[in-house]
Amino acid sequence: MVRTVLGEIPANQMCNTSVHEHLITAEYFHTFLDKLEPHEFSQKECDFAIAELKLAKDAGMDTLIEVSAMADPRQLKYIAERSPVNIIASTGFYKNFSKEQQNFTAEQFRDHIVYENEKGLRGSGIMPGVIKIATFMPKLHPWEVRALFGAGMAQKITGLPMCVHSATGTRYQQYIIEAAGANMEKVYFSHMESPTDREGRTVDMQVDYIIDTMERGSYVSFNGFVAPEYLSPEAIGELVIKVVERGYSHMLMLSLDHGLGWKRELAQTIADAQNLNMNRRTFAKLMTDVVPWLGNIGIADKDIKNMISLNAQKLFG
Ligand SMILES: [Zn+2]
Repeated sequence: MVRTVLGEIPANQMCNTSVHEHLITAEYFHTFLDKLEPHEFSQKECDFAIAELKLAKDAGMDTLIEVSAMADPRQLKYIAERSPVNIIASTGFYKNFSKEQQNFTAEQFRDHIVYENEKGLRGSGIMPGVIKIATFMPKLHPWEVRALFGAGMAQKITGLPMCVHSATGTRYQQYIIEAAGANMEKVYFSHMESPTDREGRTVDMQVDYIIDTMERGSYVSFNGFVAPEYLSPEAIGELVIKVVERGYSHMLMLSLDHGLGWKRELAQTIADAQNLNMNRRTFAKLMTDVVPWLGNIGIADKDIKNMISLNAQKLFG
């Protein structure tokens, strides 16, 4: 069974799934998108998210994994109760650790996740279905090492799947999580298509690096689609084709990593961290644009089905 915001569902009801999105304009967005303005709980923002989710459902999306970690659970519940798309919420930590968290021991990181796994997000009874953990630099800060180790220990205790923000330093992250005792088959590394994850590697070396991550048991998710200022269609297409040709479509998953953009008191658009011009984007594009495009560049239907549906069911089920 899989834990959604509204309760458990069988894994095979997840159907088409985006494994890495943001429904909440969490405070962390404001720290690196200084065009955005902080705000409190907003029904307008929720209603905007719900409208976007209805568009995504109409396009064929069934489940969305919300990996903001520390998002307001009241807001998630309000959205989930009105959304035709299943929402899976995250516990854990995003990449800008507070001063207090920078002094956490690995056990304190672990205990926060274990607490939310038992009592719900912020003790609300709204249960997380995934652990999110993020680090930012190739050379990990000491607290990032402790956060990864703590999250790995929490995975072992809770059995929850884990989403790792991996735009750089993936190998170190994986070693630390593995050393903490996590079940690596429950872990996925996001953003490995990112130019920053290349760390000087050629395309073929990056494909080897991605497949090595998969051979250590873990899944990988790409999100750099329909975002040409971040990555050209040719560049991400080449990575997808090569990973699939090597026989690893059963370990690759899809998403857009979009989030709500908040501009002048109104949620106007869908943005991701690279979308500094706040061009409008929607969650629906994964189904309306990306899936058909994968077919157009020669990816077989069975491989696309692995990536958009079956792999997430295995990982979360
Ligand atoms: Zn993200």
